[in-house]
Amino acid sequence: MASAHPFPAPGPFAVLRRMAAARSRATLWALLALAGWALLSLAGCASGHAALTLPEGITVHTFRREYANVFVVAQGDRFFMVDAGYEADAPQLAQDLRREGFDPAQLRAIILTHGHADHAGGAGYFRRHFGIPVVAGAPDVRLLERGSPDPLCPTSNRARDRLEADQAERFTPMAPDRALSGEVALQDLVGLPGRVVPMPGHTEGSLVVVVPGAAFVGDQFRGAIVGRSAELHFYMCDLEGNRRDVQRLLTAVAPQAHTFFPGHFGPIARAAVVERFGTP
Ligand SMILES: [Zn+2]
Repeated sequence: MASAHPFPAPGPFAVLRRMAAARSRATLWALLALAGWALLSLAGCASGHAALTLPEGITVHTFRREYANVFVVAQGDRFFMVDAGYEADAPQLAQDLRREGFDPAQLRAIILTHGHADHAGGAGYFRRHFGIPVVAGAPDVRLLERGSPDPLCPTSNRARDRLEADQAERFTPMAPDRALSGEVALQDLVGLPGRVVPMPGHTEGSLVVVVPGAAFVGDQFRGAIVGRSAELHFYMCDLEGNRRDVQRLLTAVAPQAHTFFPGHFGPIARAAVVERFGTP
């Protein structure tokens, strides 16, 4: 899908509630058609842009392509990017940024939640073309310098179906400008409030980016293909460790966050993350 359209699309449950209240047969059929359209647009939209406002005048712009989310986080004239999508999509992503009023050359940094191709692949393009510094977790530097993932552990049949293709994904190797081995204030990196916190699990060098009211969680968990729930990511080697990490995210790392932005689908409300992963 080349054209951008806003998401989230209307929730199917809201449509179904309206259907239940429908009096006439004609209205019922019209609403059935609308429900079908809503479900199709939710499941079938692989690209788009949406914006959300957070406390302290921060805005989050989600650019979605091939089901991979890239976020531009802005406050005043300062903005940075969380993840960079696939390498092949990077030139179009730069265009999409411009269309929304962000000059890619003015990005303060790209912070990579981890070193997989669908998150890190595009970073090299922005570094080469615009000189944007790239920040990654220290243990993921070797993934970036290699341009390939460590062995993936599928968590479902759907993931097992995708495993061969995802394991084979490659991107042009690159060395990040800064490798984090501990927590860092976002102020020092990009001049915005918040912090970057290492959270190994999905990869050894995975990072979570916390800003007022929200957290960018990479592949700690994902959004649902349809609906607004939090879901186990396709690839996770230590499921119990993942549960503990997400609980730590909720209670210690991002206790003020009401919105969680995963690398795929979403965003997700805090209540849905609690519902899926529990609290300690
Ligand atoms: Zn990943």
